[in-house]
Amino acid sequence: MPPKNTPRKVSAIAKCQICRRAVAEWTWQPFGPSDDFTCAFTALGSHYRGFPAVKTCENCRQQIKTERVIFTYRHNGYVTNPATGAIEEAPF
Ligand SMILES: [Zn+2]
Repeated sequence: MPPKNTPRKVSAIAKCQICRRAVAEWTWQPFGPSDDFTCAFTALGSHYRGFPAVKTCENCRQQIKTERVIFTYRHNGYVTNPATGAIEEAPF
């Protein structure tokens, strides 16, 4: 018999899709509808439908606001550039 105080099912906890380690806390929508990817975050589950959504942890959210961050979406690599507000295809 399993112990009574079993933790939540692991499958129910979403992992960050950028660092792939931490628990995801945000949905990031780098390709819209917002023009500014550095603030395109919503609570998990309440993102805008019809736009790509990437789950991120709080740490990666802070990095996206200030640093270049590499992420993949549908097997394509991208790198953010907060200085220009652009998202470029990653060179790999
Ligand atoms: Zn992360």
